[in-house]
Amino acid sequence: MLYLVLVGIFGACMGSFTSMLLHRLPKMKDDESVNLFYPSSSCPDCKNKLSVSALIPIFSYLWQKGVCKFCKKSISSFYLINEIIHCCVVLLIALYVGINVEGLLYYFIFFILYILFFLDYKYLYLPFYLNLTLIPLGILINYLFNTFTTLYLSIGGMIIGYSLLWMVNAIYKAVRSKNGIGGGDFILLAGLGSVFGIMALGPIIFLGSSISIIIYLLTNKSPNEEIPFGSGLIIGSIIFNLLKIFIN
Ligand SMILES: [Zn+2]
Repeated sequence: MLYLVLVGIFGACMGSFTSMLLHRLPKMKDDESVNLFYPSSSCPDCKNKLSVSALIPIFSYLWQKGVCKFCKKSISSFYLINEIIHCCVVLLIALYVGINVEGLLYYFIFFILYILFFLDYKYLYLPFYLNLTLIPLGILINYLFNTFTTLYLSIGGMIIGYSLLWMVNAIYKAVRSKNGIGGGDFILLAGLGSVFGIMALGPIIFLGSSISIIIYLLTNKSPNEEIPFGSGLIIGSIIFNLLKIFIN
C-alpha cells in the first residue's frame, strides 16, 4: 500500500513536470535564454514567482482553489488534469505491469507520446530528441520483455515506419514540388513501429489518418493549413492497443 502511495506521488510529480515541458519546449525552440531550469516557474499573469508550496502537484491547485495567490487570476485546469492523468496512468502500470524496469519503460513511452501529442496538436512541433528517444525505448522494452512485440518485428517496424512515410512524401514532392508530411512524422512513425511492431503500422496509419482528417474538419482549418498528423498517429496507436486488449 505504501508503495502505491509513493508511486502515485511520483506520477503526480511527473504530471507537473509534463506541464512544465509542454509550456517550455515550444519557447525553447524560439528563445535560447529559456531552458528547463530558467526562468523559474511564475504566474503567467502577474509574473510572481511560484513558492515551493505552489509546486506541490494536485494539492496546491486545490488549496489555492485554482487561482494565483497573488493576482487571484484563475490557473488553467490543464495543470491539474495533467497531474491527475499521470498519477492514474502510473498507478495502473504499477498494478498491471508492476513496479519494475518494464513498468518504468512502459511509463516513459506513455510520457513521451503524451508530450508529443499536445506539442504537435497545438504547435505542429515534434522536438527531435524527444521524438527520437521513442525508438530505443521501443526496441529495449520489446528486446527485454516482448511487451508489445518481438525484437525483430520491433526493428522491422522502425525501418518500415520511417520508409513508408518517407516514400509517400517523396511521391507527393515529385508531383507537387513541396513536402506533404513533416520530417518529424517519419521519426514518430519509426518510433511507433519500434514500440508496437511492424504488424501494428497498417492499423495505426489507417486510424491516424482518419483521426487527423476528423481533427481537420472539426477545427475548421483552411485547405492549405497543416494538420497535426503526428497527434493523429499517437491517438491511432492508443486506440489500436485498446482494441487489441478488448478483442483478446
Ligand atoms: Zn498571478
